[in-house]
Amino acid sequence: MSRAYNFSAGPATLPLEVLEKAQSELIDYKGTGMSVMEMSHRSKEFIEITKNAEENLRRLMNIPSNYHVLFLQGGASTQFAMVPLNLFSNSKKADIVNTGAWSKKAIAEAKRYGTINVVASSEDKTFTYIPELTKDMFDPSADYVHITTNNTIYGTVYPELPDVGDVPLVADMSSNILSQDYDVTKFGLIYAGAQKNIGPAGVTIVIIRDDLVGHALEFTPTMLNYKTHVDNESMFNTPPCYSIYIAGLVFEYLLHLGGIAAMEKLNREKANILYDYLDSSNLFKGTVEKRSRSIMNIPFVTGNEELDTKFISEASKHNFKTLKGHRTVGGMRASIYNAMPREGVTKLVEFMAEFEKEHS
Ligand SMILES: *Cc1c(COP(=O)(O)O)cnc(C)c1O
Repeated sequence: MSRAYNFSAGPATLPLEVLEKAQSELIDYKGTGMSVMEMSHRSKEFIEITKNAEENLRRLMNIPSNYHVLFLQGGASTQFAMVPLNLFSNSKKADIVNTGAWSKKAIAEAKRYGTINVVASSEDKTFTYIPELTKDMFDPSADYVHITTNNTIYGTVYPELPDVGDVPLVADMSSNILSQDYDVTKFGLIYAGAQKNIGPAGVTIVIIRDDLVGHALEFTPTMLNYKTHVDNESMFNTPPCYSIYIAGLVFEYLLHLGGIAAMEKLNREKANILYDYLDSSNLFKGTVEKRSRSIMNIPFVTGNEELDTKFISEASKHNFKTLKGHRTVGGMRASIYNAMPREGVTKLVEFMAEFEKEHS
């Protein structure tokens, strides 16, 4: 068996231990004679899987009891609509910070249902930084404030959360959930598609404070109303069973590792190995302002497009896969999510140093 160092931004690498566990249970889950894929979502076994996954996620993120945890479908992109449909309950105004392509999509979708104020934007410098945000920039009468905590394409992360007063803070945490410690009580709602840091595509995690449920706009489709899923414990219809099962295995794996604090420490070490090299290299350089650097997605360039292409192709031959930057940015991007082993980063840096020597 040979495993690649897979730097894909999503779907992304999963912990080998999780894949092996899933493999061992693939055909016969705990003596049931069936795969989790083949099982009724109302079965005792599957209800147990969901319950454990939720409990373990609550432990990992320290989610208080006044927050619901939902396992939904439709990806983070569906949340761009669900959030305004459910949270526009008073002024129908929202403050959104524009830090990249995903924020823009959230803005475009929310605009269909209310008034959007783009509080700040980093588009002037191709989204290479997180704008400074002060409390006076936010409208106290807004129904919510929306941020993208980690910007997958541009490689930025909020160095700290903005102070938005009593307005519910909504976060698209798709590419850095479970990578660093966040205080859930600072948020009204957190959502994340699974395929970056949680598990396979197909399940979307929503963590929503109790008081924000039950005020959806009148025309909200049943399936897009959080209340539907809260009332039915994510089983209003068939949930993405297998994705939930794998997510559950990932949560267990993280708990065994020592939880989010241990994961965050390792993630910072991994990111520093690559950033330290980029800062010292004469060939490669990072594209993001230092204080906004993501520890999950690290874009870099040589400044020469031909050389970038050559690097990506040679890296791939050496088993470092999917290092091509997003089509809108170019260059390279190393996504080093939780499941990327430290060794993957150290070996990549060794390979980069060799490439640099050959091309200087
Ligand atoms: C990947 C990603 C999305 C889109 O997720 P889908 O599940 O494909 O809809 C949205 N926001 C962020 C920050 C992402 O990284």
